[in-house]
Amino acid sequence: MAQKNVNKTFGDLMREVKQYIHAPKNLSLIEKAYKYAFAKHEGQTRRNGDPYITHTVQVAYILATLRVGPKTIAAGLLHDVIEDCGVTPKEFVEHFDEEIYTLVDSVTKIGNLQFTDEKEYQAANHRKILIAMARDIRVILIKLVDRLHNMRTLQYMPHEKQLRISQETLDVYAPIAHRLGISEIKNELEDLCFFFLMPEKYHEVAKMVEVRKAERDQHVETMIQQIQELLAPLQFDLTIFGRSKHLYSIYRKMTTKNKRFDEILDLLAIRIIIDTKDKEAKTAKLDCYEVLGYIHQEYFPIQGRLKDYIATPKMNMYQSLHTTVVGVEGQIFEVQIRTKFMDDIAEQGVAAHWRYKEGTRYNAAREQKEIEEKLSWFRDIFAISEDMDNAEGFMDAMQRDLFEANVYVMSPKGRVIDLPNGSTPIDFAYRIHTEVGNATVGAIVNNTMVPLNTILKTGDVVQLKTAKNTGPSEDWLKFVKTSHARSKIKSYLARREAEDRKPLVEQGEKIYKEEMGKREIDPELITGKKLESVPALFSFGNLPDFYYAIATKTLPVNAIAEKLGHKKGIFEDLNLTRLFKSPQHKNTTPKSVVKVAGIDSIKIELAGCCNPVYGDEIVGYVSKGQGVKVHRSNCPNIAQGKRLIDCEWTEMADDQKFEAVLHIDSINRNYLLTDLVTVVSQYKAALNAIDSHVNDDRITATTIMTLAVSNAEHLRVIMANLAKVDSVRAVERMIL
Ligand code: MN
Repeated sequence: MAQKNVNKTFGDLMREVKQYIHAPKNLSLIEKAYKYAFAKHEGQTRRNGDPYITHTVQVAYILATLRVGPKTIAAGLLHDVIEDCGVTPKEFVEHFDEEIYTLVDSVTKIGNLQFTDEKEYQAANHRKILIAMARDIRVILIKLVDRLHNMRTLQYMPHEKQLRISQETLDVYAPIAHRLGISEIKNELEDLCFFFLMPEKYHEVAKMVEVRKAERDQHVETMIQQIQELLAPLQFDLTIFGRSKHLYSIYRKMTTKNKRFDEILDLLAIRIIIDTKDKEAKTAKLDCYEVLGYIHQEYFPIQGRLKDYIATPKMNMYQSLHTTVVGVEGQIFEVQIRTKFMDDIAEQGVAAHWRYKEGTRYNAAREQKEIEEKLSWFRDIFAISEDMDNAEGFMDAMQRDLFEANVYVMSPKGRVIDLPNGSTPIDFAYRIHTEVGNATVGAIVNNTMVPLNTILKTGDVVQLKTAKNTGPSEDWLKFVKTSHARSKIKSYLARREAEDRKPLVEQGEKIYKEEMGKREIDPELITGKKLESVPALFSFGNLPDFYYAIATKTLPVNAIAEKLGHKKGIFEDLNLTRLFKSPQHKNTTPKSVVKVAGIDSIKIELAGCCNPVYGDEIVGYVSKGQGVKVHRSNCPNIAQGKRLIDCEWTEMADDQKFEAVLHIDSINRNYLLTDLVTVVSQYKAALNAIDSHVNDDRITATTIMTLAVSNAEHLRVIMANLAKVDSVRAVERMIL
């Protein structure tokens, strides 16, 4: 472990990079990223006192050893500038490009994920979310390497953090490295976690390995020489070396397979790597089998230990021949035989794969196809459909599949919520809590106010605006995706309907009794025994429904009276009574705002249907016993000429506000609501309510805004500017 902690310099990085990246524009991109990161991290230090830039240089260096492309190296150098240096997206993109920005931004987002909720904490889920959030395999590579370097320097962290980070690394990052086939990183991560989580065990195993080392090395050395001589006639380009198992795997074998340390360690291991150069894949494989033949001819193979991972690769693309043989002096050797190409995949997995994809000096389509075939393990993990036949298609399909099933969005605090694809802020709200869903009035996604029917994407940060005394709208049922939200909305609406109906039922009963009482009708039909039979006369099953119909004017009282045997009833003009039935919009108006010619002691109210605003042309309507209702003169709810009385606005206080309801017809588009709200706030009107929905045609949208404005001129200016908003087709004042 120790030598890996020696910091590499930028010079070391460039030397490593130049082994496989040659284009001047790519090299200068990396230099530019370094200079930029250096300037931005200037003055920042790590816990161990090193300048912060050393961390990003190490990350880039390790990435270079994985032979990733130039943009990924640049992103490695820049991976902390957004989080730690406050570089804005705009500034970043100006210096680099959208692609590198997206890599860095995704790394940052993953870094901010919080899985602290114990109940929801499941390592497997966490891994899946992390991969989904990353969207790009390069992001995972950068994040893995970032974690690796942080683990290498974990001793400078407080003990508690060491434990937490190590556990997370062991649960989440090491398995991802394994799945991606990057055994180099996986092994090192595991050993580091082992060291911090179980220091005694770690030292115990390390000591046992050390004690036997000299003896083991001698056996291995002899064996290597023998094999080299044995294979000389083949004239292959070979590398043969002994290898040691990493400590955590020894420990795990001891505990899970219940084996003695001796049994595990006595197994000496040798690896033979054949550089097959440009040979066809088929020929390269035959070379491996040929070497195996030589080995088995010379050394006695142990039965049941021959494994052919070339013919049947492991899930993570691993290919190799394994055999166990008895050496000349009786030692047991496990021998691995593979090509250089197979070894790259074994050590670096997807990183190696990606290298071929980004296409630097490796560009053999043949080898790429080979890899794609091996990548079938991805399908298994993510249950991807079979219909893909090339590399691009494969990665796209993997991501598409992952995203089509689910989106992962975050609360502002980084809590991850997974939702089915197509979910909206309302689905998100109900997932948080039913009460939150019921109180939601607005949503801010990635710092922008959006309509509530906006489709969320993975990585979106969703913040909800809630208000008391509101409730879900029936329109929400048109766009919510989750059945959970749907059922919560429906049950709320049903409850509200029952509650809403109750006063109407009571009101209907009152109307019935009063109106019928005024007429010469059999009292038995009004309050007596015959009452129960009345609803049936009008095709209603019960009294509440009957009363409800009366209150809502679907059943006119005169029709009832006629049927119940009365001839000369007087009844209110239904149109007139309707004027006063929307108390929710009642504007209680100080008398001084409007004056009625010739009268000063009379109750004056602004009508809730047309909501007159100071300066509007108005007219008063005299209602029996209820004073004067002030309507806009063009309000269709006033019967022309009857009971109308002139009135006019008086001087008023500056802070007096009037409510106006606007109906806005538009083509649906993103951020429309934001633009509308912006106009309202630009002209300093208060937004009391807003309700927006996409119409059934999926093309147009309707928005109803309730504003508090100072006067008619103020309202006119706002309406004119709302009408100028892109995609708005009409802005009208509503008459309810
Ligand atoms: Mn970092």
